[in-house]
Amino acid sequence: MKTPFLTKAQAEDIAQRFPTPFHIYDERGIRENARRLKAAFAWNPGFREYFAVKATPTPAILKLLKEEGCGVDCSSLVELMMSDRCGFSGGEIMFSSNETPAEEFRLAAELGATINLDDLTHVDFLKETLGYIPKKISCRYNPGGTFTLGESKEGFQVMDNPGEAKYGLTRPQMTEAFRRLKELGAEEFGIHAFLASNTISNDYYPALARILFQTAVELQQETGCHITFINLSGGVGVPYRPEQPANDIAVIGEGVRKAYEEILVPAGMGDVSLCTELGRFMLAPYGHLVTRVIHQKHTYKEYVGVDACASNLMRPAIYGAYHHITVLGKENASCDHKYDVVGALCENSDKFAIDRMLPEIEIGDLLVIHDTGAHGHAMGYQYNGRLRSAELLLKEDGSVELIRRAETPDDYFATVVW
Ligand SMILES: *Cc1c(COP(=O)(O)O)cnc(C)c1O
Repeated sequence: MKTPFLTKAQAEDIAQRFPTPFHIYDERGIRENARRLKAAFAWNPGFREYFAVKATPTPAILKLLKEEGCGVDCSSLVELMMSDRCGFSGGEIMFSSNETPAEEFRLAAELGATINLDDLTHVDFLKETLGYIPKKISCRYNPGGTFTLGESKEGFQVMDNPGEAKYGLTRPQMTEAFRRLKELGAEEFGIHAFLASNTISNDYYPALARILFQTAVELQQETGCHITFINLSGGVGVPYRPEQPANDIAVIGEGVRKAYEEILVPAGMGDVSLCTELGRFMLAPYGHLVTRVIHQKHTYKEYVGVDACASNLMRPAIYGAYHHITVLGKENASCDHKYDVVGALCENSDKFAIDRMLPEIEIGDLLVIHDTGAHGHAMGYQYNGRLRSAELLLKEDGSVELIRRAETPDDYFATVVW
């Protein structure tokens, strides 16, 4: 069972000040989770989480994570600008982008960010763009093929296709890139890889770590480059469905430690610092999209019409993603009605739930759509002239703060040349 971090009374109270729909984040949940991650990797002295800004590009959230010791992982010019304005600098910024325009490399270098190259050709592109190669540099590795974990009768626990992904360098290219970067003056090297997305398995990070650690040992032997950091990137997931088990970050940290002690330490590389670039794991469970039921429609199916739509949360419409729904005030009622919960877009994919068993719903009910803290508001858009909602922060003291106002028609018209 998934329990919202808001009660019906709280949500009604908030809705008086900030009309629905809105995204709301739970400060306490975010902080406690960030501390669990930090504790899980405390055995590694240089460890740092670089929050993947794209998941929740909201300054109040970035500042809160900064207070918890996190850096940021940026992948675009505007994300770099936002991170700069939030006070992140130098070693607190990772820049992992692909098909990168020259001006983005320039700003990343100016801010002192650690640049993570996505291709062999970017080595010389970066040299031409900046006129030099930064002393500290990283390359993104793509081992190709398929990546699987934990085969059982039901199939693989984790399955993804790095060989089909546009990101990263091949294994021989990694060697070539490191040699070339060293020639051009790089002194500290890092390796990054992202092999699977939203994994529900305590084994993903340890398995990825083994691949990266082994590769690091080989690369150091082949090229003589001094590898000082390894980036496990994102991919640790969250249970969107109530029956899924959650990842245990303490177990994950221990699994990575074991790989570190078995592979890096014996190779004399026990000083390598680790980093992560988690997005979903850091924020998804600590965000709710709160929306009100405004219509009910009985045709070939039973429809519940809400005041949020796919422009507030795109994942169900584009990936068929499951997001759990709680009807506030009916948490303990039996789920004996089958509904499609739909928004107002003129797109038949604008459905937050299809054939979902829920308690009997009435017009005026408030719904919590769960796990929208990452890739939720961030993926918002304005199709149909439906504007993006406000973002609110539920503070540890129970008060609520507006951290991004809702868009207005003037915002929508602001770019128009009439
Ligand atoms: C999206 C992304 C992440 C974060 O991924 P999550 O699955 O949200 O943890 C990390 N690093 C890079 C380079 C990304 O593109």
